[in-house]
Amino acid sequence: MRAARYFGPRDFRLVEVERPVPARGEVLLRVRAAGLCHSDLHIIYDELGGYPIPAPLTLGHEICGEAVELGEGVSDIELGRRYAVFGPVGCGHCRYCRSGRDNLCSESRWMGIARDGGYAEYVTVPAQALVPVPERVGDAEAAVATDAVLTSYHALVTVGRLEPGQGVAVIGVGGLGLNAVQIASALGAVVLALDIDERKLELARQHGAAVVLDSRQLDPQKPPLDRPISLVADFVGNDQTKLLAQQLVERGGRVVLVGLGSVGGPLAALRDIAEEIAVLGSFWGTRLELATVLDLIARGIVRPRVETHPLDEILTWVERLRAGAVEGRVAFVP
Ligand code: NAD
Ligand code: ZN
Ligand code: ZN
Repeated sequence: MRAARYFGPRDFRLVEVERPVPARGEVLLRVRAAGLCHSDLHIIYDELGGYPIPAPLTLGHEICGEAVELGEGVSDIELGRRYAVFGPVGCGHCRYCRSGRDNLCSESRWMGIARDGGYAEYVTVPAQALVPVPERVGDAEAAVATDAVLTSYHALVTVGRLEPGQGVAVIGVGGLGLNAVQIASALGAVVLALDIDERKLELARQHGAAVVLDSRQLDPQKPPLDRPISLVADFVGNDQTKLLAQQLVERGGRVVLVGLGSVGGPLAALRDIAEEIAVLGSFWGTRLELATVLDLIARGIVRPRVETHPLDEILTWVERLRAGAVEGRVAFVP
């Protein structure tokens, strides 16, 4: 079968590999769609501060597929049914997994990052990672639900503790951030969208942002919203945006860091301490939250913007995403 594999920094190629066989407790999925995340670019271009990525590895951590074969001991999965894959699936028995914080399990082998992912015709997945896709959710929407929507939801709701009526700033309205704008406005927040690309800002306006601004042209003397900004979610995470996030937020507010733009760098400033600003990391999301976001999509509350292309075009789209030329998300159909 065809698979897009990472062989080491800047060496990402389409190759032929054997179709995998599901081990005990695993399911073989025929991939129906797999979304392209900026994290794939960080992996390919070695921008994760030396974080170890095994090679060769099939990338692709946003997966929707159809169950076609069950490994030994798997009983509760229906052949022929569509499933979304919960990427950071945990061990199921540590204290994080038992308390519903399975995204923090240290035993997890993240799909498409620590084990082979979905840029292929078939992928094997632990059965516990599978969440049924509601009828009304398309394949590509289900794929991007597993990260671009899930991660945004977790950052705003669980880590950010967003409340209706709050002012919320979203920095970087790309694949993730555009969903964050929709989620925050659906939950009654007043959203400020910040980006450096006019087209992304226009999309954010169409998806519910009350105010959109080029982040480089913010006037520090002029409050951008009609209310204080209680929560800033940073989907870029470079040194400038991390600083901007800390400047925008009100006293006692929350800054949630999602983007991996620069790993390292100074974080806390005096203002964080004297004004009780909480600067928090946010990682992916939980399995329960994945079911929640699939439901939000099924009900039309969140409409992820995603276009599909053949897997054979993946290298072109990696370059386009890197050049900032993707609006919303791209997903591949093998
Ligand atoms: P993307 O490329 O689709 O979107 C990034 C957006 O940020 C674009 O709209 C771009 O124009 C904008 N941008 C770039 N530089 C900017 C700046 N200086 N100021 C304002 N806006 C700027 O990327 P994505 O797939 O949405 O991913 C965003 C980030 O989140 C990446 O770093 C990715 O690795 C990370 N990520 C983290 C998690 C997590 O669990 N923490 C999960 C998924 C992705
Ligand atoms: Zn991702
Ligand atoms: Zn665990």
